[in-house]
Amino acid sequence: MLNRGEPMKVYLNGKFVDKEDAKISIYDHGLLYGDGVFEGIRAYDGVIFKLKEHVDRLYDSAKSILLEMPLSKEEMEKVVVETVRINNLRDAYIRLVVTRGIGDLGLDPRKCSNPTVFCIAEPMNPLLGESGIRAITSSIRRLPVDVLNPAVKSLNYLNSILAKIQANYAGVDEAFLLDSEGYVVEGTGDNIFVVKNGIIKTPPVASSVLRGITRDTVIDIAKELGYIVVEERITLHELYVADEVFITGTAAELVPVIEIDGRVINGGKIGEITRRLKEEFNRVKRILGTKVYD
Ligand code: PMP
Repeated sequence: MLNRGEPMKVYLNGKFVDKEDAKISIYDHGLLYGDGVFEGIRAYDGVIFKLKEHVDRLYDSAKSILLEMPLSKEEMEKVVVETVRINNLRDAYIRLVVTRGIGDLGLDPRKCSNPTVFCIAEPMNPLLGESGIRAITSSIRRLPVDVLNPAVKSLNYLNSILAKIQANYAGVDEAFLLDSEGYVVEGTGDNIFVVKNGIIKTPPVASSVLRGITRDTVIDIAKELGYIVVEERITLHELYVADEVFITGTAAELVPVIEIDGRVINGGKIGEITRRLKEEFNRVKRILGTKVYD
């Protein structure tokens, strides 16, 4: 374990190395083509939130793009646990990445024989937007499922980045993307929920969304609290006239949205149902997961 003042260590291809010494090849297809998969994970008070679910999703993403994983799921979980442990962290943001590996300048994945695996754990960054964020809807459409299914958490995030750039130019915190039919699907790095007349609604997993682990957790919480949750398409009109809107994601956790394209939601304040779900999420996030320390 690290002592105070020692450089942070990251996992890279079977070894723990100082952060500054972690280098990958410029011929890595993760870099050249975005050919790879990843997970963003959090640890709360020494518990890695839903680690197994994150590793399962990583392996599903890899299977979908025919990327053969060099480690078993158990070994991959150990990599994450050890990366947190070696850096003496209790609260952390973790990035787990597997790329196709080193190839030549052609894009043929058969030229890449060894996937690159790395894992970074950093101290938890403070959360943004606790009291609510402002958002726009982006003119950039979310990738259709028959083009590059957003269910695959690949290293190619340009679709989200282009929408984020629009949010930046509009001077707001987040952009929501619509699908090619004009239904609201998700944020740049988060899932969306609307509440109307007490009913909670989020787009279905078969639409152009990443099936968020926070999304699924919040759906479970909401049902346990007795709310009706429906997974159905959401129109722009429904978004504008919602009683409450919130987003979920590993980085964001659960954040209220108080303005969308100039329409103020719930008088600009966090809604009652959002508040209850957030409270409950804050309770379970320290419990549901894998312990780092005995
Ligand atoms: N959608 C997108 C596009 C994302 O990048 C993320 C973050 N991984 C999410 C949704 C939320 O997923 P999760 O709750 O598993 O972090």
